[in-house]
Amino acid sequence: MAFLMAVTITAVGLAQDTDLPNVKILATGGTIAGSASSATSGSYSAGQVGIQTMINAVPGIKELANVSGEQIANVGSQDMTVKIWIKLANRINELLASDDVDGIVVTHGTDTQEETAYFLSLVVKSDKPVVTTGSMRSSTSISAEGPLNLYNAIAIAASKEAIGKGVLVTLNDEIHSPRDVSKMNTTNVGSFSAPIKGIMGGVFYGRLGFFREPTTKFGNTSEFSVEGVTTLPRVDIIYAYADMAPDLIDIHVKAGAKGIIIAGVGNGNMTEATLNAAKKAYEEHGVVVVRSRRVATGWVLRDNEFKDDDYHTIASHDLNPAKSRILLILALIEGKKLSEMQELFYTY
Ligand code: GLU
Repeated sequence: MAFLMAVTITAVGLAQDTDLPNVKILATGGTIAGSASSATSGSYSAGQVGIQTMINAVPGIKELANVSGEQIANVGSQDMTVKIWIKLANRINELLASDDVDGIVVTHGTDTQEETAYFLSLVVKSDKPVVTTGSMRSSTSISAEGPLNLYNAIAIAASKEAIGKGVLVTLNDEIHSPRDVSKMNTTNVGSFSAPIKGIMGGVFYGRLGFFREPTTKFGNTSEFSVEGVTTLPRVDIIYAYADMAPDLIDIHVKAGAKGIIIAGVGNGNMTEATLNAAKKAYEEHGVVVVRSRRVATGWVLRDNEFKDDDYHTIASHDLNPAKSRILLILALIEGKKLSEMQELFYTY
C-alpha cells in the first residue's frame, strides 16, 4: 500500500484503547515519506509525505497500540541538522517522562539514520523503548517496504521485551543497536547491517525476539545530555588517502573545528605528515583528533603502528567516522579532557 499524497499534520492519532500501550510516532522525513512520479521510478523526493498519511498506510496498527504522530521535520536525512537532533532529543525526553507515553517511533531517512539513532541513544534518559525506522523504497514505489517497517517499529516500541534496551533501529525484519549498525548498501532493502557485532534481534510482522543485549553504555547510564544545549561544537570528518595532504587538518582548525575525525586508511592510519599536523592541532589549539577508519568494518586499535600518546590521538575502537563524530561532540560538551577521551570510545 502506498502512502500517497503529501500532507503535513501535527499531533494526529487514532481512538484510544485503554488496554493497549501508547506509542508516539515522531516523523522526520526520509524515503519512507518520499514519493516518486511512478511506482517503478527509482528517482523520488524524500520527505514529501506527512505523518497521518504514513499511519493510514499501515493496516492493523490499531491492534498493536494507541498510535499518534507528530511531525518534527520533513527532510531527506542528508539534510538532518544538529538543530533537529536537539529538538528530537528534548521532545523524546519530555514525552517519555509522561505516564501517557509507553514508547516512541522515529521515522527517518536511511542515509544518516545510524547517526541520529546513536545520538539519541546517548542523550535519551528513559528505559522506555525508542525505535527508529525508515525505508529504502519510497512510499509510492512498487513493493514499498516502509509500511511494514513502521508496523514492526510500532510493535517493538509497544513491547515489554524492548524496555531497557535503549534506542533501537529496525528495518527489513531486523533489530539493531545504533552503535553497531551501518547503512552498507546504497539501494538494497537489506542495506542495514552490524558487521562487527551482528543484529540484536528480529521482528516478523510484529512478532519479535532479542538475541543479545547492547554491549556499551546508553540511556539512563549515559553521562551525556543536551538539556539546555542550543548548539553543538563543530567536529569535522576528513577522509584519508594515499599521499594525504597534511594541511587539511590546518584548514579545518582554521574553520573552527573543535575536534577532527580521520576516516583513516586501514587501522585508522594517515600519512606521517598528517599525524604531525594532528599533534600540532592539539598542542597549539586544543583540537582533539580521533582516528577512525574509511574501511567498512573492523576495530581501530590504540597504539597499533605507533604510540597514540606521541601524537595526542584517540583510537575510535569500533566506531565509524560519523558516530565517532557524535561521541566526540558530546564529550566536548561535557568538557572531557584528552586523558578521559579514549575510555569514552571503549565505553559508549
Ligand atoms: N537521502 C534520503 C534520506 O536519507 C534517502 C535515503 C532513504 O531514506 O532511504 O532521507
